[in-house]
Amino acid sequence: MSAAARPYNFSAGPATIAEEVLAQASAEMLDWPDAQGRRCGMSVMEMSHRGREFVSIYQHAQAALRELLAVPPNYRILFMQGGGLAENAIVPMNLAALRCAAGVQPTVDFVVTGSWSEKSYREAGKYCSAQLAASNAHDGHTRLPEPSSWRIDPRASYVHVCTNETIHGVEFHELPDLRALGCDAPLVIDFSSHVASRPVDWSRVGLAFAGAQKNLGPAGLTVVVVREDLIGHALRCCPSAFDYQRVMDNQSMYNTPPTYAIYIAGLVFDWLKRQGGVRAMEARNIAKARLLYEAIDRSSLYENRVSPDCRSRMNVPFFLRDESRDAAFLAGAAQHGLLSLKGHKSVGGMRASIYNAMPIAGVQALVDYMREFETTCA
Ligand SMILES: *Cc1c(COP(=O)(O)O)cnc(C)c1O
Repeated sequence: MSAAARPYNFSAGPATIAEEVLAQASAEMLDWPDAQGRRCGMSVMEMSHRGREFVSIYQHAQAALRELLAVPPNYRILFMQGGGLAENAIVPMNLAALRCAAGVQPTVDFVVTGSWSEKSYREAGKYCSAQLAASNAHDGHTRLPEPSSWRIDPRASYVHVCTNETIHGVEFHELPDLRALGCDAPLVIDFSSHVASRPVDWSRVGLAFAGAQKNLGPAGLTVVVVREDLIGHALRCCPSAFDYQRVMDNQSMYNTPPTYAIYIAGLVFDWLKRQGGVRAMEARNIAKARLLYEAIDRSSLYENRVSPDCRSRMNVPFFLRDESRDAAFLAGAAQHGLLSLKGHKSVGGMRASIYNAMPIAGVQALVDYMREFETTCA
C-alpha cells in the first residue's frame, strides 16, 4: 500500500507508527539482516534474547535512545514491561523508602492534573502514604496549578507529576524545578504520551517512565530512565522482576524482555534521528499543534477548554458545541481516512492525538475536513 493510500490514525495509543519503520520491519520479518546486511535466517521474534543478534539489537536501541534524549551518563535506561500503569506501583515500590528513616511510613507527594496522575496517586497509596500536593480537579483539569502553590511535604521521598495528560490534553511545557521551590526530593515524571516529542531537562528529573505505545513503538515495552542514586532502595514487597536494581544489574534481561517491541522501538529511534532528533520533532509538533488549535479557536462549532498556556501538543481534545452532530462528524471523518478521533469515554467529544509519527499533512487533512464539516452542516 502506498503512503497516500494509508489513512491518518489519530489514536491515543497504541498509535500511528511511521510507515518507513513498518516497511523496514516488514522487509526484515522473515530473516533479520545485521548492520552489515548479513542475514541470520531468523525473525527477530524467534531469537534468543541472550544471542549475539538480539543483544546487538538491544544495545543499539539503548544507545540510540540515550543519544536522542541526551540522557546523562549517571542515568540508567531500563527496558521493562507492564506499561505506564504498572509503573504506578513499581515506582513507589522502588522509591518510596528513599528518604525515609527506618520504621517510618514512607511519604510521597502527587500533583494531580488529570486522569493519569490521579491513577498514579491512588495506586501509590497501596505502598506508602500518598499525599496530594496540588490538584486541578476543581476546574475540570483545564489548567496547571502554579508550582509555587504546591504543598510539598519536606519528608516526601519524591514528587510525582504527569507531564502530559493524555486524556485531558494538559501538558507542562516546562518541567517544574523542585529545587527552586526549596525541595530536594527527586521529581518523577510520567512522560508516556510526550516522550521524544521535545528535549528533557534531566537536571530537573530523577526518574521518567513511559509506555512505548504512544510515541516510541508498539505496546509491551516500558522505558524507565532513572538516576543511579535512586536505584537500590526497593521495599521488601517489590517483585524481583520489577526491582530496578535487579533489572539494572541484568541489563534489563533478568527475565525475557519484550524483544520484538524493543526491535521496533530501535527502528523508531533511528527514524527519529533521521528526522533531525527531538529538537526538530519539537518544532514540528509545535507547528502541528498550532495548526489544529487555531482551527478550533477560529470556528464557532469546535471548542477546546484547556487554558492556552498548557494545551498539549500531543493530545488535542475538542468538542462540537452541538453534541448531536458527534456521530456524523466521526462517520464523515472515517470516510475521509481520518481514524480514531472519538474522545476518551470519561471526557466525551473528540480527541486528535498528533504524536511524532503524525505528519503535518495529516493534521492539515483533519483541519480541512473540520472546516468542510462545519460549513456544509451550518
Ligand atoms: C497510556 C498512558 C499510561 C498507561 O499506559 P499502559 O501502557 O496502558 O499501562 C500511563 N500514563 C500516561 C500518561 C499514558 O498516556
